[in-house]
Amino acid sequence: MKNYLIQIIEDDPSVKKLLEITFREYQFNSISCESKKSAIIMFLSHNPDLLIVDLGLPDGDGKVFIKQIREISKIPIIVLSARHDEKEIVAALDAGADDYITKPFLVNELLARIRANLRRNKEETTLSDTITCGNLEMNISSRDIFFQGQLLKLTPIEYELLKYFLLNANKTLTHKQILKEVWGVGYQNEMQYLRTYVNTLRKKIEQNSTRPEHIKTESGIGYRFYCNNERKN
Ligand code: CA
Repeated sequence: MKNYLIQIIEDDPSVKKLLEITFREYQFNSISCESKKSAIIMFLSHNPDLLIVDLGLPDGDGKVFIKQIREISKIPIIVLSARHDEKEIVAALDAGADDYITKPFLVNELLARIRANLRRNKEETTLSDTITCGNLEMNISSRDIFFQGQLLKLTPIEYELLKYFLLNANKTLTHKQILKEVWGVGYQNEMQYLRTYVNTLRKKIEQNSTRPEHIKTESGIGYRFYCNNERKN
């Protein structure tokens, strides 16, 4: 198994130290820096596999750095911040972060999110023809989606929504992001569309649509599509 390189952008020495020790213990390589400016230079010279970004940095907001990175790279970005405000979380995800963890954080949760993000990134870059998520399976070339081995009958919007969820499994997606990707630019504020389609989709793919196991609501933020695929690496 490859040793992934994680770049930490964090100005709090104690958090930085904790991350470095944790990553060493779990066999990730890591490099760290304290400011936006040094982060860009380090990113370009080391080509890391994943970024852990704090938002309150001495030379400005981490979201600005995330936007800069998104112009040049699809690298997984996890925000690790003391800011708990929903608006701040949504803004960081909309800026291009893949995930958001609030401080104080649980080491196990952080590691799980890191693995999920690295795995998703690997799946996007390998030419696999099927995406599997529990009892759901999507064939990329035929565009068919199967649920418990049966072909799912979906409307075009339901299909696009489920496909977007499957491609972004285990990731918090804001309402805005989903509306933009599935419906298109100009629909970002049509929350009711999204709610309606999430409900119809839940009826088709959840064992119990009132207690969904796949499409989970992230209150005030959006949705997270859960996949518990245990994979051998
Ligand atoms: Ca900070």
